Amino acid sequence: MSLPTLDDLGDAAGSRVLVRADLNVPLDAGRVADDFRIRATLPTLRELLERGAAVVAASHLGRPKGAVREELRMRPVATRLGELLEREVGYHPAGGCLDDEVRARVGRLAPGEVFLLENLRFDPGEEANDEGFAAALAGLADAYVDDAFGAVHRAHASVDALPRRFRAEGRPAVAGRLLQREVEVLGRLREEPDRPYVAILGGAKVSDKLATIGALVERVDALLIGGAMAFTFLATEGAEVGRTLIEPERFDDVREARRRAGERGVLIELPADAVAAPEASGETRWRTVPAREIPRDLMALDIGPRTVEEYARIVADARTVLWNGPMGVFELEPFSAGTRGLATAIAGAPAFSVAGGGDTLAAIARAGLADAFDHLSTGGGASLEFLEGRDLPGIRALEA
Ligand code: ADP
Ligand code: MG
Repeated sequence: MSLPTLDDLGDAAGSRVLVRADLNVPLDAGRVADDFRIRATLPTLRELLERGAAVVAASHLGRPKGAVREELRMRPVATRLGELLEREVGYHPAGGCLDDEVRARVGRLAPGEVFLLENLRFDPGEEANDEGFAAALAGLADAYVDDAFGAVHRAHASVDALPRRFRAEGRPAVAGRLLQREVEVLGRLREEPDRPYVAILGGAKVSDKLATIGALVERVDALLIGGAMAFTFLATEGAEVGRTLIEPERFDDVREARRRAGERGVLIELPADAVAAPEASGETRWRTVPAREIPRDLMALDIGPRTVEEYARIVADARTVLWNGPMGVFELEPFSAGTRGLATAIAGAPAFSVAGGGDTLAAIARAGLADAFDHLSTGGGASLEFLEGRDLPGIRALEA
């Protein structure tokens, strides 16, 4: 299987190219609050414009569930995209995501011009992977480029039915530079990582990442666990976890993952100490306690300093590091040191470093360490599903 890219697009000069990007950014008071995802797709857009194409960009934004929601219109995204591209980005607040005015304006686009469609999910056909909706989108352009890595795990019209339609009609449907890089980097982690390969998983729930744990146990040399999920692991050993958020219904899954890790000789590391408090609040009184002896009235909300030191030591010897999920409730200052400490350790390690997950990336950005990572994946769920070896509809639809 090979993924066609912009190198396979041929002469783009004078053509109209529909770029499905992932411009699903957080908004605040009608402005883009974080433009990481918009920036990530700029290389693709700039290359197409330089090659003389006109670009019709499209994305979903939030979860409007097939209806127009005023607060989820793409206008703030069009504004920010225009600033970043340093050129005007056409936009028309259509009733759905397409109307006659949109078709007319797209039809008049000249080489080097950009038009951004309205939120794809305003149309129920998007999430339904509807052929009719895909046909309407296909009518807007000569070629299709998918740069929306964050959406390739969904069988939605703009990433599945649409590229299949282009290909069935003998028209190009290829991956943009961002999607290409994600597949290259994550593919390397999946198929042939430099060893030792160390993965660090955190976040609130084992349930969210059960499939990931199972897949990683088959591939990594060491798995370091943090976040609340570490305490579900510890609880299976009979540790005292106090009021920490754990999932007893996952004990069997955790035991199975540990059994398999033992069989493969994979090291599973759990916290030695924790920062615990009566509640997850910035004002609360907290203290550092042994991770296996959380006092009855407290909950573990971060990994402790000894754990950070131990995890940092393992990371320092790794040649590949994958990180998904914060080590604690990093949003609150008293419980942010574990996540920050680990981010610092990875950033300073010689390993090839990859991080993914919305909260993880936010924590890395907050620590000012984004540039120190080799790759920050724009897809949270998509990156995990890719690493699990799952077949992703948006990638399958492009593969020759
Ligand atoms: P990502 O978005 O990077 O994939 P997740 O969404 O899986 O990460 O997990 C992040 C969330 O987990 C954060 O909101 C964080 O506050 C929470 N979390 C981490 N550790 C704990 C803990 N010990 N107790 C409660 N919540 C936690
Ligand atoms: Mg999250």
